[in-house]
Amino acid sequence: MADSPEKALCVIIGSGPAGYTAAVYAARANMKPILYTGPEPGGQLMITTEVENYPGYPEGVQGPTMMDDFQKQAERFETDVRHEMITKVEFNSGGVHKLWTESDHELHANAVIISTGASARWLGLENEKRLAMSGGGVSACAVCDGFFYRDMDVAIVGAGDSAAEEALYLSKLCTNVHMLVRRDEMRASKIMQERVFKAKNIQIHWNTETVDILGDETVTGALVKNNKTGEQSTIPVQGFFVAIGHTPNTKIFADYLELDPQGYLITTPGRTFTNVEGVFASGDAQDNIYRQAVTAAGTGCMAALDAERYLAEKGII
Ligand code: NDP
Repeated sequence: MADSPEKALCVIIGSGPAGYTAAVYAARANMKPILYTGPEPGGQLMITTEVENYPGYPEGVQGPTMMDDFQKQAERFETDVRHEMITKVEFNSGGVHKLWTESDHELHANAVIISTGASARWLGLENEKRLAMSGGGVSACAVCDGFFYRDMDVAIVGAGDSAAEEALYLSKLCTNVHMLVRRDEMRASKIMQERVFKAKNIQIHWNTETVDILGDETVTGALVKNNKTGEQSTIPVQGFFVAIGHTPNTKIFADYLELDPQGYLITTPGRTFTNVEGVFASGDAQDNIYRQAVTAAGTGCMAALDAERYLAEKGII
């Protein structure tokens, strides 16, 4: 027979900067949060090497170390951190929300904070994964890692607004930026395209696909193929950026919560309310624009404060 459902004041789903910050605030407000880490404990920062733009770390910090610090801080206030995944939900506006873990444990929560993040899309090449994991020069975030390639040559793959924006960002730091576009046109908005075309040190390689990323310890080049002519060539670069979009981790909420066409959770502007009372959203799962650790932490704090007020207004805490 299945166990009877566990009752919780507040369940937090996700363990990136948003989830852990929500946990610190919720725990200090006596909401006894239970945090489910999900399949990638620590979130996207676990595949980042050095983080230099998070305030409070003047010397920079390794992404995994920072996430370890986040977890310790949440646990210091007795957040119940569980290394499992929530696989199913049943939300009930203004009432008790039901959640199930992968091992079929059932929880009934008065408030739920979603901070499941968004996963960067990758090309799927073996060397891409290896050199991203080792900090060897492959990254899915130019704003986070571009600084390490000052005065060097880099490549960026993608042709949407993110790729255009990141190519422009890199062009201010790097000597040359090679933009690898798989078609003969870009998906990015016209204004972004114009800016890219105007940048003197961005070279666009049209109809170009990445065959492989070269380098043992660090990136030394990109092996590319022109998909019109079939011709292969090597572009020598020290950094390789992937900007082919993100997938928000929101699939299990789709029956209950409003999502935008790309799957991001829709929240009340300036707040963390979803369309279901008692369910709050924070971090990259609801942020298609900024996607930074510090902004995710900020919205995690907001979600916990919103949840606390909600529970107080209902007379639950
Ligand atoms: P998009 O989905 O808009 O673009 C992804 C790009 O990656 C496309 O050009 C696509 O090529 C390319 N791509 C996908 N898979 C591959 C692959 N395997 N190999 C090579 N190229 C590939 O994602 P974005 O992250 O750029 O943007 C997401 C949303 O956010 C958009 O709505 C965008 O407008 C918005 N945004 C707005 C910004 C702004 O307004 N400042 C900034 C950033 C994002 P193809 O075109 O051939 O399909």
